[in-house]
Amino acid sequence: MKKLAVVAIGGNAVNRPGEKPTAENMFSAIEEAMSYLVEMLDEYDIVITHGNGPQVGNILIQQEMAKDLIPPFPIDVNDAQTQGSLGYMIVQSLRNQLEKKQIKREVAAIITQIIVDRNDEAFKKPSKPIGPFYTEEEARKLMNEKGWIMKEDAGRGWRRVVPSPKPLDIVEKEIIKMLLRNDVIVVAAGGGGIPVIRDNGSLKGVEAVIDKDRASALLAIEIDAQELIILTGVEKVALNYGKPNQVLLDTLTVQEAEKYLKEGHFPAGSMGPKIEAAIDFVTATKRTCLITDMKKLKEALIGLTGTKVVYG
Ligand code: ADP
Ligand code: MG
Repeated sequence: MKKLAVVAIGGNAVNRPGEKPTAENMFSAIEEAMSYLVEMLDEYDIVITHGNGPQVGNILIQQEMAKDLIPPFPIDVNDAQTQGSLGYMIVQSLRNQLEKKQIKREVAAIITQIIVDRNDEAFKKPSKPIGPFYTEEEARKLMNEKGWIMKEDAGRGWRRVVPSPKPLDIVEKEIIKMLLRNDVIVVAAGGGGIPVIRDNGSLKGVEAVIDKDRASALLAIEIDAQELIILTGVEKVALNYGKPNQVLLDTLTVQEAEKYLKEGHFPAGSMGPKIEAAIDFVTATKRTCLITDMKKLKEALIGLTGTKVVYG
C-alpha cells in the first residue's frame, strides 16, 4: 500500500532564480522538478500543489500595459489562468517522464476553488503585495478609480495589496478524492486555489490571494494524506536564518515551531506560512510534514536530510 502525500512545489520549481520567465524556461524548470517527483512514485501516491505569485504578477503587468485595448481581469480569473498554464506544464512534463519510465499512470490538473470567509479579518487589512509597481501619483489615481488599496513597498514604488484570507473548504475536494481512488496523479489548489465566497448560496470569486502553503495543508488534511511535503529553496529550516549563529534543524515539534514562530525566526512572506502549514497539518493529523529542497527530496524521504515537523 502506497502512502499518500501532498507535495507543494515552490516558486523556484517554476522559475529558476535569475532566469527570464519565458515559457521555454518554465517548461525546463518544471521538467527538472518533475524528475524529482517521479522518483517517489514507487512508494507514494501524490497530489501536487504549486504557487503562482510571480506568474499572476506577470499577467497583471501584461494586462496593465494593454488595458486600453483589453479590459484587465479580476485576480480570481487570473488565478484560474495560472492554474491552467502551470497545470498544463506540470501535467505534460509528468506524462512525458512517466512514459519514458514506462509507468502507466493518468495525470490531471483540477481547476480548484477554495472557500474563504467574507468576514475573515484579512479582508480588513490587506497585506499581500501583488503585480506591478506604480508611482505615487498613479497609485493615488488607481486607489480612487478602482478602490484598490495600495502601499509603498520598501522604497521600490507603490503596489496593490490584497487580503490573504484563511482557506476553509475546497470546492472540488470530492473530485480530487475520486481521482485519487482511481490512481490518478492530481495537480490541485494551484496558487493556493481560487478564492471564492458563498453569496446567497452561490459561489463567487473574490480579489484575494490564498497562501499556497496553507491551502496545501488544508488539502492534505481533507484527503487524509500521510504526509505533507513542502519543497522550497532550502534544504533545511533554520533558526537565525542567514546569520552567523544560524542553526539548521533536523526535526521540530509543533510546540517548538510555535515558539520559534513567535520569536520571529520564520518571516511572514517566506518560511512563516510553511511553518504554519506544517503546524496545521501535524496538529490535525498527528502525522509529519517534511520541508526541504526538491533536489534533496530523495535523501530527505529516507531521513537523511530536510526538516521534519512532528507532533508534540
Ligand atoms: P516558495 O517559493 O517555496 O514559497 P519562499 O521564498 O516563499 O519559497 O520561502 C522559502 C525561503 O524562505 C527560503 O528559500 C529562504 O530563503 C527563506 N527563509 C526565511 N527564513 C528561513 C528560515 N528560518 N529557514 C530557512 N529558510 C528561510
Ligand atoms: Mg512562498
